[in-house]
Amino acid sequence: MADPTRLHAYEMATLLRSGEASSRQLTEAHLAVAEKQNRALNAWLAIDREAALAQADVADMRIAEARRSGADALARLHPLCGVPVGLKDLVSVKGGQATAGSKILEGYRAPFDATVTARLREAGAVIMGKTNMDEFAMGSSTEHSAYGPTANPWNLGRVPGGSSGGSAAAVAAYHAPVCIGTDTGGSIRQPGSMCGVVGMKPTYGRVSRYGIVAFASSLDQIGPFGRDARDAAALLHAVSGRDERDATSAPVPVPAELLDLPSSDDEAAAYLKGLRIALPKEYFVAGMDPGVAARIHEAVATMEQAGAIVEEVSLPHTEYGLAAYYIIAPAEASSNLARFDGVRFGLNDRTSGEFIADYLRTRGAGFGPEVKRRVMLGTYALSAGYYDAYYLKAQKVRTLIKSDFDAVWAAGFDAICAPTSPVTAFPLGAKLQDPVAMYLVDACTLPLNLAGLPGMSIPAGLADGLPVGLQVIGAPWSELSMLRLARAYEGITARAPWRALEPAELELTDDPTTPSPIERMERLTATSAGAGDQSKRT
Ligand code: GLN
Repeated sequence: MADPTRLHAYEMATLLRSGEASSRQLTEAHLAVAEKQNRALNAWLAIDREAALAQADVADMRIAEARRSGADALARLHPLCGVPVGLKDLVSVKGGQATAGSKILEGYRAPFDATVTARLREAGAVIMGKTNMDEFAMGSSTEHSAYGPTANPWNLGRVPGGSSGGSAAAVAAYHAPVCIGTDTGGSIRQPGSMCGVVGMKPTYGRVSRYGIVAFASSLDQIGPFGRDARDAAALLHAVSGRDERDATSAPVPVPAELLDLPSSDDEAAAYLKGLRIALPKEYFVAGMDPGVAARIHEAVATMEQAGAIVEEVSLPHTEYGLAAYYIIAPAEASSNLARFDGVRFGLNDRTSGEFIADYLRTRGAGFGPEVKRRVMLGTYALSAGYYDAYYLKAQKVRTLIKSDFDAVWAAGFDAICAPTSPVTAFPLGAKLQDPVAMYLVDACTLPLNLAGLPGMSIPAGLADGLPVGLQVIGAPWSELSMLRLARAYEGITARAPWRALEPAELELTDDPTTPSPIERMERLTATSAGAGDQSKRT
């Protein structure tokens, strides 16, 4: 068998069923690279070798039993049975850590499995560990993790995007074929784009959020990362569907066809014939990298050559999305984070024995600067006298943004194509001192969260050696069509030279002298004479 870490999940599924590979073998191979390269990447906050191998053995038994029972039983196995997967460290795994990238949850152990975890266990997937993230998923670079930043495998001095940067980097670096992330304003699509992998934020309500640490409940959605559309589809299939324990999960059937995306490139490409694609002019924002704009226009032109009908449209309220999001998301976060009070979860500083003093000390020490900034913004926006001026107005803007999209669907378009991020992966530290510059990176992703729509980022080549993501936006519940479009785009670009490239600095991660992202950040902080001390800004 060739290097198992280069296989796609569906290729692993074939080898597992034929007996050419065991889950233990596949899991061992992935654990070995993840353990070896994690110092240089810091993509994982926890790798649980023992638990992973135990799950692999169970998967091997399930597969062996299915093989004994015959072809039907084998076909009934989920394609992810025996396949390694990583979870963003805000997903509960019974008995395991769930830090959400925060010091305040250090030492906390989840008393139950999240629904996503339970569904992955049912499918027989092997949970390798927990991936790094911005604290409470607040950020666009994974630099706000209390456990140090993650490096981008394409350029180790650059960020992987965020907040699910650990998951995106782990998939790009072949540590796992698929990983789970969450997306409140872009946190799956944007790191997917910056690391050159597929990432999908499903329709609000598609995936149960029971057992994940909440950031902004009307925006949060769980979704998959994979190195191609078929793998992302398999992971989406495994975790989707109504769950009694999350009232916001919708009773919408999960299409079985998610597991049947075409394997042939030509067959996949045929999907583009006559497909109506909208190109929103507002998404080509001022200040975007010219290389990004060029790749997106090329991608769309390629789809046009393959038979798609592309028309420019206007989503006129796009420019207000960022402002509305940065009222609504912090408002909801300030409420969700009230539960971290030093009594119920994780960190508790009980030095004074006086509740309010201990509460303030615990939150003061446990939350990082970005989280404090959001709690202050959100508390302010919700306070008496300002609620109407900010929160209510932001909710009205949200309705307008949604109606912009509704008009596109009503005009008969099948999908919207746009850039995922206006910029490619930026250098570590570049935007840390300027929160608004960091927020701007999500201008093209967060309107979808406000509207509850599904969106995905698919690799569309490189600009100056760094990955560019094409964003596909769909009508509610159209994930299957979006994945077919993504698969079609893979089909028509299968022979493009960039498709064969591996992340440019991946080899350096094997070298023990390569500095870790934590060391790089320390050096940056030291050289900028305290400029890296964000506490001065809060
Ligand atoms: N970057 C955005 C924020 O900081 C979105 C984060 C996310 O999607 N979790 O809020």
